[in-house]
Amino acid sequence: MSYETNFVISGIAGLFVGIGLFSLIGIGSCILLALSVYNDALYRRVENPTMWAVLSGFFNIVALVYIIIQATKKAAPLRCMQCGDFLHPNSRFCQRCGRPLMIPSPDELNNYDRRRKLFLWLWIGSSVLSFIVLFVFIFIYVVRFIGAV
Ligand SMILES: [Zn+2]
Repeated sequence: MSYETNFVISGIAGLFVGIGLFSLIGIGSCILLALSVYNDALYRRVENPTMWAVLSGFFNIVALVYIIIQATKKAAPLRCMQCGDFLHPNSRFCQRCGRPLMIPSPDELNNYDRRRKLFLWLWIGSSVLSFIVLFVFIFIYVVRFIGAV
């Protein structure tokens, strides 16, 4: 193999490594976003926290929809999921049908709050990192090829 062929092959291989790393970090950052949404949903006592988390992981735009929904529905009072009765904010059981409300303790709330913020920052960090990796590899690739011409 000639030097030029080697050069082109190694350049293309480098680009693929870059795209691979970008994708891997991208997948990791999607998982971090899903974890942040999951803990936020637990913190806010949103129904279906797992559904929101999984959807946000696969389609990051869902996380935006989720945030908008949460920001606009603040005024709605809590209601029992079984009988629909309005609930006192601090009660642990529905006063009408007796359903346990699975209200997190203050400690658990603190944990959810900490984790949603932690995962949010990790998500931001990994997103930035994935783009830095992509640009570094594109930069190396372009410099090599411009240098070769
Ligand atoms: Zn009830």
